[in-house]
Order: sequence, then C-alpha cells, then structure tokens
Amino acid sequence: METKIVKIDKEDFKKEDLLGASQILKDGGVVAFPTETVYGLGANGLDEMAVKKIYKAKGRPSDNPLILHIGEVDQLDSLVEEIPDIAFRCIDKFWPGPLTIILKRSHKIPDIITAGLDSVAIRMPEEPIARELINLASLPIAAPSANLSGRPSPTSGAHVIEDMIGKIDVIIDGGDTGIGLESTVLDLSGDRPMILRPGGVSYEELKKIIPHVIEDRANLESKEIPKSPGQKYRHYAPKAEMIVFQGETEDIVKTINERIGKYIYEGKKIGVMATDETQDRYSKGIIKTLGTRKDKRSIATKLFKVLREFDELNVDIILSEGVELDDIGKAIMNRMMKASGGNIVNC
Ligand code: AMP
Ligand code: MG
Repeated sequence: METKIVKIDKEDFKKEDLLGASQILKDGGVVAFPTETVYGLGANGLDEMAVKKIYKAKGRPSDNPLILHIGEVDQLDSLVEEIPDIAFRCIDKFWPGPLTIILKRSHKIPDIITAGLDSVAIRMPEEPIARELINLASLPIAAPSANLSGRPSPTSGAHVIEDMIGKIDVIIDGGDTGIGLESTVLDLSGDRPMILRPGGVSYEELKKIIPHVIEDRANLESKEIPKSPGQKYRHYAPKAEMIVFQGETEDIVKTINERIGKYIYEGKKIGVMATDETQDRYSKGIIKTLGTRKDKRSIATKLFKVLREFDELNVDIILSEGVELDDIGKAIMNRMMKASGGNIVNC
C-alpha cells in the first residue's frame, strides 16, 4: 500500500489541509496523526472493518481495547450509557487533554473497540490538528498509539514513518508531540474511580477533583496483574535488554557505574539513560540524557525518543536511571517498568 505523508505545521495550518485525511477516515481508511500525548493511529470507531485495519497495521492483540477520540463533548452522549457526575467534573477540568475516561458503553459501539468489555474508553485530545481532523470527519475516531505493537510509542512523524510506512493510508507529520507519554486512563465505570494507567494527568491533579480516586497497584509493581487489558503486555520495549535503577540519585549513579564495569568486561555494548544532573558521572558506554530532574515533564517528552535512538545504535543493554514518583514521575516509571519487562533494581 502506498502511504501518503502530509506535513503540517502545528502552529500554522488551515482546515483545508486536513480535508483529504478526514475523507479517508470517512471512507474507512487509516490515518496516523499527532496528539499532545503521542501519535495516534486513527480509523472510524463505528466501522468494524476500518478498526480491523488498525489492529492489523500495529499487530495489536485483539483482547486489547481501543480509545475512542472525540472532538466535542456532545459526541459523548451517544457513545455511553450514562455520564456520572464525577465524569462531568473531570471533563470540565481536563478535557480537552491527556485524560481518557472509561464509562459504560452504549449499544452503538462495536465489540472490536472494547474487546468485548461492557465499558468504553473515551478521550478528547487537545492538539489542534487532532481535534480539527476528528471534527471534519465528525466521527468518533479509534486511535491507539501509532507504533508497531510492543515498540516505543511514536513522539515524532519520523517515528510513525519508521513503523507504519506502506501499512496505512496517510501519515500526518505534525512534528514532535508535547507530552510524549500516553494519556492517563481513569475508570469511572465501576464502584470506585480507579486510575488504570498513569499518564499526562497526574494522580495528584485527579485527587483534587476526585478525592477518593485509587490507583491500580499493578501500574508500578511488576508482580500484580493489571485490570486494564493493555497493561499486561510488555510494552514500549526497545530491542535491547533494559534495566531500571531506582532509589536515591547518588545510589543509582554508583550502582549503574558498577554495572557498566561488569558489562564492558563481558564485551557488551551499553547505553545509559541519564539525566542532565548525572550524565557527566558515567565514563563508559553511550550516555544519553533524558532531561533535567528538576522538570520531569521534560524527561517524559524524551523517553520514547531515546529508547528508539538506542535501538538504532544496536546496544545490548540499556541501563536507565529511574525518577521519583511525584507528578508525571509515576507515568515515566510505569513506562520504564513496561519497557524493561519489570527489570527493576532497587539501589
Ligand atoms: P493505547 O490505545 O495503546 O494508548 O492503549 C489504550 C489503553 O486503554 C490500554 O491499556 C487499554 O487496555 C485501555 N483500555 C481501553 N479501553 C478499556 C476499557 N474499556 N477498560 C479497561 N481498559 C481499557
Ligand atoms: Mg500503545
């Protein structure tokens, strides 16, 4: 299949630039587009055949449900059975934005979207390209991340091209995404509001709106079985073995340096994911910084990009510094845990 690449300037584009892509969505095709979290792989969420193409292009397991993306809040009514009060409060505060809300599904939604569950995940993205595209199509758009299943999520048009060229109809290249990690998934379909996946909206922010919100412990503990189907897979995974080191920064640096010595002796090619504050403390291996520890949002932005860079460099082992669990730190550690297959060392 020939994939059309459409370059769009996020800061300066016209509705007409997206007309071709929106028509392809209406016609049952697949279009990759930027959101403020990561790039999405979009298709008409009410068309089973179109959604099947997403699963095929990604190689995604069919028991992993998809998020429906909407452009305006009034699209929500027909997609869910009811909208509880706390959902309205979350929508007021966080939409458009990186919060996915799970509610009881309406009969309108095909089983392929929900993998047979009685609930559905919905988000209204903030990125203007995404919203304009969805509004032009005037459809709920199913859109998982636009990477091959298992690979790090794409945070630039180049990443999407790497994974999806020849597999889908259109790639809208709108440059780098802002947040760099996926949305927070909040389940409001059960008795107790629960965060199923940490993401762009933090636990602390949600707690201000829903004081009794709880977190699925499996988000950060590799031994627990997650409640969200997608969270059980090894995800975001680089080709190399990856080890994450967590604890006090000084202890992390010391332990990683010991490991570097060991692996170099074994003849391995090593990549180190450091931070601005620590990158000069490692003498061997390929050192890349994720950003400053003072601004975890900058680390979130670069994580998937650096994982892909290490793939290209064909390192054997990635030694990664962990971060504290406040703010977006939880989402970062969750992705690192998944990327490493739970290979975490407490220093
Ligand atoms: P992705 O589309 O790759 O960002 O992943 C979507 C995430 O939302 C996965 O972890 C899914 O398992 C989760 N998800 C989607 N729909 C539901 C649902 N109805 N119940 C629980 N988790 C869901
Ligand atoms: Mg994904």
